[in-house]
Amino acid sequence: MEKLFYDEGLYFSCQQCSSCCRYDPGFVFLSQNDVDLLANTLEMTYNTFIEVYCRWIPFGDGVEKLSLRELSNNDCIFWKDGGCTVYASRPLQCRTFPFWHSVLDSKNAWEGTSETCPGMGKGALHSKDEIQTSLLERESEPVIERKQ
Ligand code: SF4
Repeated sequence: MEKLFYDEGLYFSCQQCSSCCRYDPGFVFLSQNDVDLLANTLEMTYNTFIEVYCRWIPFGDGVEKLSLRELSNNDCIFWKDGGCTVYASRPLQCRTFPFWHSVLDSKNAWEGTSETCPGMGKGALHSKDEIQTSLLERESEPVIERKQ
């Protein structure tokens, strides 16, 4: 079996510094389940939630993917008063960070990302199984996209 740099697990506990939710531009891509859960939490219809809280990001060839909007200062639209206002219903992308394919691609990618996230390498040990479950969850819930 292929040897992975995270065979023995990885340490991560969010330090709540908020740097991944604020300050810099970025995308929070949404799956069908994410929209269902957030719309339900906010007591909105699916389509109204998309109209109010989402934007379509071009990916070439007329394909656009659905992301949360940001405020003009680049903060996540759900960041308020020092925290995430939809934490219990937060999108899969947020829930599974930093156990993403792009971050787990190599030890270098993990270490590079850890320069911007003080929670990586600290706190709870996450087993290889747990990490791979996060990866599978992302694969099983594709981001919503449309073709123009
Ligand atoms: S950058 Fe890391 S430590 Fe800071 S809020 Fe995000 S996940 Fe938590």
